[in-house]
Amino acid sequence: MQPTTRQFTQNARDALANASLQSALGKMETGFVANRATAAARLPEFEALRDQARDIKNHTLENLDFYLETFEANVIASGGVVHWAATAEDARRTVLDICRSVDAKTVTKGKSMIAEEIGLNEYLEANDIEPVETDLGEYIIQLRHESPSHIIAPAIHVVKNQVIETFRESHPQFDPDRSLEEPRELLDEARSVLRQRFLDADVGITGANFLIAETGSTVIVTNEGNGDLTQTLPKIHVVVASLEKVVPTLEDASAILRVLARSATGQEYSSYTTFSNGPRRAEDPDGPEQFHVVLLDNGRSALLGTESQEVLRCIRCGACMNHCPVYGAIGGHAYGWVYPGPIGSVITPTLIGVDEARHLPNASTFCGRCEQVCPMRIPLPKLMRHHREKAFEEKLTPATERAGLGVWAFLARRPALYRLATGMAMRVLGAFGRRRGKFSRLPGAGGWTAHRDFPAPQGRTFQQQWSTRGGRRNAGQ
Ligand code: SF4
Repeated sequence: MQPTTRQFTQNARDALANASLQSALGKMETGFVANRATAAARLPEFEALRDQARDIKNHTLENLDFYLETFEANVIASGGVVHWAATAEDARRTVLDICRSVDAKTVTKGKSMIAEEIGLNEYLEANDIEPVETDLGEYIIQLRHESPSHIIAPAIHVVKNQVIETFRESHPQFDPDRSLEEPRELLDEARSVLRQRFLDADVGITGANFLIAETGSTVIVTNEGNGDLTQTLPKIHVVVASLEKVVPTLEDASAILRVLARSATGQEYSSYTTFSNGPRRAEDPDGPEQFHVVLLDNGRSALLGTESQEVLRCIRCGACMNHCPVYGAIGGHAYGWVYPGPIGSVITPTLIGVDEARHLPNASTFCGRCEQVCPMRIPLPKLMRHHREKAFEEKLTPATERAGLGVWAFLARRPALYRLATGMAMRVLGAFGRRRGKFSRLPGAGGWTAHRDFPAPQGRTFQQQWSTRGGRRNAGQ
């Protein structure tokens, strides 16, 4: 996928002007947010579980080599194959080789962000293999030639009338006068089309929510059961997963599963949680003849031991974006790459470079809601700040911003001067703005006042009031 994060500002403007997107996004606050709050309130140990989940992942990341090798050994013991892919190109090539080994014409796919990250669909198509998305949301956006705009609800940006239009265009085999007004009718139609695709596919490709070291299992959670058909009906099951998905034991996976669905959709558990262990055995009635796991690094191992390591705890639940006022206003496509919302603002610059994606960490109010709800307690604002610092150090921020920060830093290191300067500024602004009580335009703050008024200071600075009321300054000041 070609990133458009450089055009973030324009993307965001377009999104704000897009009426149907705004209508689709309006439903998020009443759905996911309210459901998560209810689900969390119903489980007294929810906060303790979040701590446990964080600790499990931290421990795994500290010993990642050990758990990955254990996972590989157990996959081999159950008859599967593990392919280590350092880059996206390695992973794509591996999947293609597996597909070609059975002369595959079509492959079915369960929803996988990693497949999006490596641009698998485009690559397979370019090599004459047709990928068919089987998650309903993914299927809709595949027909519309779009990309997901949310991690757990890929078609959240599409409204019902657009789905009806898409189905009428893409399914000419059905009666043109059929009714598609009811969600159930849309679902039945998608199901009837996909049923044959499941049966025709030579290879089924899924992602993985977890890889379990002690058993060599891969785990997917879905609400539609499409992942199960994707992985059990074709001759070959290929799992494409990034290496931080590994956890030590079944029990660890169960603990994290308890926070995953509650954080994502407010369910206690997703409808289907499927564990896969190798290909079918002689006594199994069905299942794939081959089982492959493609383990993708794509820059992740370089994060180990760095200030960005914590991002590798992410379980892609989407809670951070459901609660993010910026994501809620502009949706996922504005972020310009695979991962939207607060987690995208952290992962995208990490994976494709701060120079490519420097706008994203700035697209945050730092309200902290993302960190408050993240089940893995990832300090997203802190990680975004690291990216901001890096962009500043690499001189990627605009000259005016750098100059402003330079002046502020100069004053902040000299508290007496800082107090004098802010006191004077307050007096001047107060004198000019007292009559109207606000400024509708302020030199140097045009971006801020373009959308709201700047209140005129009414009295003394906070620090002046603080010392009048007996507040003490820091010893060093
Ligand atoms: S950062 Fe946290 S809240 Fe956001 S998707 Fe990852 S685990 Fe979920």
